[in-house]
Amino acid sequence: MTRLWIKNPLAVHADGEAAGGVVIEGGVIAALVGAGDTPDHDASFDATDRVILPGLINTHHHMYQTLTRAVPDAIDKELFDWLKTLYPVWAGLTPDMISSSSELAMAELLLSGCTTTTDHHYVFPAGHEDAIDRQVAAASRLGIRVVLTRGSMSLSVEDGGLPPASVVQDEDTIMADSARLIDRFHQTGPLAMTQIALAPCSPFSVTKGLMSASAALAKARGVLLHTHLAETEDENAFCVETMGCRPLDYVEDCGWSETKSWYAHGIHFNDDEIARLARAGAGVASCSHSNMHLSSGICSACALEQAGVAVGLGVDGSASNDASNMIQEVRAAWLIQRLKYGSAAVSWRDALRWGTEGSARLLGREGELGRIAPGMAADLALFRLDEPRFSGAGDPLAALIVCGAHKADAVMVNGQWRVQDGELLGADLGEIMDSHRQYSRNLQTGAGQ
Ligand SMILES: [Zn+2]
Repeated sequence: MTRLWIKNPLAVHADGEAAGGVVIEGGVIAALVGAGDTPDHDASFDATDRVILPGLINTHHHMYQTLTRAVPDAIDKELFDWLKTLYPVWAGLTPDMISSSSELAMAELLLSGCTTTTDHHYVFPAGHEDAIDRQVAAASRLGIRVVLTRGSMSLSVEDGGLPPASVVQDEDTIMADSARLIDRFHQTGPLAMTQIALAPCSPFSVTKGLMSASAALAKARGVLLHTHLAETEDENAFCVETMGCRPLDYVEDCGWSETKSWYAHGIHFNDDEIARLARAGAGVASCSHSNMHLSSGICSACALEQAGVAVGLGVDGSASNDASNMIQEVRAAWLIQRLKYGSAAVSWRDALRWGTEGSARLLGREGELGRIAPGMAADLALFRLDEPRFSGAGDPLAALIVCGAHKADAVMVNGQWRVQDGELLGADLGEIMDSHRQYSRNLQTGAGQ
């Protein structure tokens, strides 16, 4: 096996002294290199002028929404009205649009320094039976590590839910497909490149039977559970009105605290609920841009983490963020959590921890991902500081977050370079963007349906 020395970087965010860089072998970090040392190596990569971070980990997204960014009728709305505006547009999705939007989002994530991503795909109009299969194929083409969730909606507007009937499925269909996807794609070993999780969309779009059945299957098969929870006050009011309890009470009643779960947003939990989340070993994917965009509120990231809840970061769907940029998500978390907790309580290091090892812990991957240390996956993001925004910066690591890095120079996943010189390797970004733009036009104008 080749031993690749990534040598003499400007700075490394590592567990230990690594001023001389890192050595990669067989998809893992084999060694940290001290200043001035020369390790055993067969090949080298000159990282002069580059800052090395652990690859960033995105814990919440809806990649299909890259097709509906900045839709005029949906801008400036809060969550429920925003969703009701876009559901009819999403009903026009085609299977090829799922492939295209997944490729585009994964390319966008890689170029921002992200090496592992989740996705929460929950729209399955007729003919979309292979949507997750298509996402697995897209991830394999681009070489990004993924935890793809089999999302679902089963409660249409006719039955008291929010989505139209054309985008929901019945419980038996959803559960059969969930089991099929776990059998076919879920990898269990260390350094798994593809994992499957189960993700009913939200309390206002899923029947209680499906919430319970999903939890039972996830527990039986050892896969993670995911959903949106405590995102808005509207959601709390919906749950109290229709179910007589708060959102966390509801999912606990469906068995979600008996298996490993992570929740997107998690803004409106009270202290008692935060303690219950910690006891259940749950995680929260904080999505700062989305929460600001939709005026949903500010996640209590520090209180959650102090209580023992795993806190990770997520870009959320492109239509509620309008970007899939993980390094910018780290900066947004840093800013908004300082606004909430005060400047003494939150540093750029906290935000970086949430976007790396916090996200890894949330996914149950803390022993493999999210840190630069011997034995960890060779998932790295390298940034250059050669843009005007960095000119004059003192601490090169802090500068990435404080000055607002937005584009990685080189990205390695599982020991393989996927981005070099700021360009995607092994895939034609121009082609990906051309077809994505065409599908987006078709979807937004209703053409081709
Ligand atoms: Zn979401």
